[in-house]
Amino acid sequence: MIKEGETIMRSFLRYTRVCDNIIRVNGLLGLTNEFFYLVIGRNAAAYIDTGYGFGDLNAFARQFTDLPLIVLNTHGHLDHAGGDFQFPRAYACREDWAMLLASYDDRAMNEKAQAALSGAGIWTEEDTVFAPPGAAPELLEIRDGDLFDLGGVTLEAITMPGHSPGCVSFLYREARILFSGDNCGPQPLIMLPAQGEGRGKYASCTLEVFSHSLHKLAAREGEFDRILNCHKAGELPMSCLHGVTDAVDGVLDGRYPGVPVAVMQGKITGVFSARGLDPEQVGKLPNSYIGDVVFAKDNLR
Ligand SMILES: [Zn+2]
Repeated sequence: MIKEGETIMRSFLRYTRVCDNIIRVNGLLGLTNEFFYLVIGRNAAAYIDTGYGFGDLNAFARQFTDLPLIVLNTHGHLDHAGGDFQFPRAYACREDWAMLLASYDDRAMNEKAQAALSGAGIWTEEDTVFAPPGAAPELLEIRDGDLFDLGGVTLEAITMPGHSPGCVSFLYREARILFSGDNCGPQPLIMLPAQGEGRGKYASCTLEVFSHSLHKLAAREGEFDRILNCHKAGELPMSCLHGVTDAVDGVLDGRYPGVPVAVMQGKITGVFSARGLDPEQVGKLPNSYIGDVVFAKDNLR
């Protein structure tokens, strides 16, 4: 029977090695729909996001490196920053700090973990704790253009307001790899409600703001060949970035009026997909990396 929290939590992490110094991690036996990354330089290592935080992330990293570890958040959503509480400090754009502080909620995380495990027919002891009531880390600011030098690994912050106001992608300059966060994917969401509030007040920016961010990234496209992302696929074809940009611009210029969809397992309705792709199927169907966006019609400009 499962009893010892730490051992269980560590074993709940699943990973693949992208290359010598990049580990892609997925929490909770791969049951939760998020990826985050451990990037290792000569002098330091960085987590790019911390997932939901199910599992001992310090112990996990120590399997690969003894170097000092920093935490860089792509944005403030719970499924990316949930593990920040395990560290004394975490970097994030100031625009998402309030959301981050609201995200550090151990009760929500424990419920999510238990639901995911029981949904997969895996049962743990009643007193198994996945996320102890936690201290929030000290937040440190990320600004556009900031460089994080890990020793032979330079990560440049490229701010990308859209999916959330404080979204950022990280360009690993030497390896020509973009860690996109949720700023590029099969179907970025530009309609998420603010934490704990209705859809009337957006945590996402307008579609127009997102378009500006995508064009800013497109201008840097000559600097990367690979896109490592956080949901559904661990890696995206470069064409997906073009497809997302076209979908967003197409909604704004009227080419794509949008098809009604429901997201978050049907919990959020009244939103639209530019290309009419079913959010539940994106990532499963062969054509689903053409690049799409889910948006609300009262949140275009
Ligand atoms: Zn997100």
